[in-house]
Amino acid sequence: MDFSVLTKKNIRSLKPYKAEELPCAVKLDANESPYCINSKLSPEILEKLNRYPDPDANLLKTAIAKDLGINKENILLGNGSDELIYYLIITFGGPVLAPVPTFSMYAIISQALGEKFIGIPLDKEFDIDTDKMIAAIKKYKPKLIFLSSPNNPTGNCFSADRILKIIEASRNIVIVDEAYQPFASEQGFLPFLNDYANLAIMRTLSKIGLAALRTGFMIADRLLIDEVNKVRLPFNLNSISQAIALDAFKQKKAIICAVKSISTERDRLTKVLAEMKGVTPYPSEANFILFAVENADLIYKKLLKSGVLVRNLSGVVKNSLRVTVGTPDENNMFIKSLERALRRNI
Ligand code: PMP
Repeated sequence: MDFSVLTKKNIRSLKPYKAEELPCAVKLDANESPYCINSKLSPEILEKLNRYPDPDANLLKTAIAKDLGINKENILLGNGSDELIYYLIITFGGPVLAPVPTFSMYAIISQALGEKFIGIPLDKEFDIDTDKMIAAIKKYKPKLIFLSSPNNPTGNCFSADRILKIIEASRNIVIVDEAYQPFASEQGFLPFLNDYANLAIMRTLSKIGLAALRTGFMIADRLLIDEVNKVRLPFNLNSISQAIALDAFKQKKAIICAVKSISTERDRLTKVLAEMKGVTPYPSEANFILFAVENADLIYKKLLKSGVLVRNLSGVVKNSLRVTVGTPDENNMFIKSLERALRRNI
């Protein structure tokens, strides 16, 4: 039976999100951390698997609130920040606005939910084009604006003054998606939360060593959280994730240490890439680097053949690949493979 005739029109043209599991020796494609945070799971949790988890994840929320110096009531937890994007768009609807290229899920989820997505091109430095964004805000009156800073896949932070201009120009909600904030040199937008009721911030544990937990959170005005909570599934964060995430907050030192070493490696890798003939890395404040290279499709394939998996983003930014920063050894393997691929490219 052709079920697609029954599928809603807006969903028919969507393709399942391809999180590729290609066999490789060095996995540098998904912006994960190369370092695993060795968390402990108490046997008590396993003895209670017959019970639903705490629907409000109270202990975890308390730990996050303490860590960030905020109130528990200002936190909403999601099964990954992906789920929070879903909830935001379900709750408030569209149009949804974002500068592009950016994290693909803002557009995909908008389409899945039948909401209009408007993408406004970034400027040449991959920064927000304030005039064009403000014109789009006036024209479309978007309910939600997503600003990924640092931005995936370009790696840069948007200028703080431009972000503030967007928050001030919008009557509706602006979400600063800080998935990669721990790797940035700037402090992010948490300090502005009290100044702007329409500002929400998203964070995730996925990039700092706990991607498997699927734990993300949003920090925002309590009234905004109350609205989104209306659509949240009752037990969206399972008990194992809650327990391990809670334990991770006790291991903050290890997390900070891993983040520091990744940031240092990112800077080293950027320098090495900049010295390679035919390669142009874009400045990054995240745990990945986007770089331009001629014949990107071919280089991608050659890297994969030598066991190194990166992300081919040529369809998004011309002739570009994105490499996640790995351990020093992994990065060296990537550099060697890239050098070899480039030599044979000429
Ligand atoms: N926001 C951005 C900018 C991302 O790059 C990602 C992951 N690729 C996410 C959110 C989703 O993260 P999570 O694993 O918490 O769903």
